[in-house]
Amino acid sequence: MSEHSANDALAARRAEAAARVERLRAELGAVRQARSENSDDDEHDPEGATMSQLWSQSSGLLDDAVRELEGLDAALERVASGEYGLCQRCGRTIDPARLDALPAAALCIDCARLLG
Ligand SMILES: [Zn+2]
Repeated sequence: MSEHSANDALAARRAEAAARVERLRAELGAVRQARSENSDDDEHDPEGATMSQLWSQSSGLLDDAVRELEGLDAALERVASGEYGLCQRCGRTIDPARLDALPAAALCIDCARLLG
């Protein structure tokens, strides 16, 4: 993979992740709003449970999306500094197939297995 196409793939994924973060933040804002409007009879409200469930689901997804975004930002920085595709732990070249599947990968498969 050339550096140019790595940059394009990362930028496309970053835009997608940023859009997801924005959507989930809006969703959580709406849930928070709905919860505070219904706070009078939360315990007897069957929707209260659904709201809590929705909340924990969406905030979990938001955490994932934020982490992904951070990983992609770090990868874009490595492209800029010429370190993209090199393992951040052992310094060896990361398998291109791994980068195809996981463009933000910071570790080679061996180090990822060790640390994972
Ligand atoms: Zn490594």
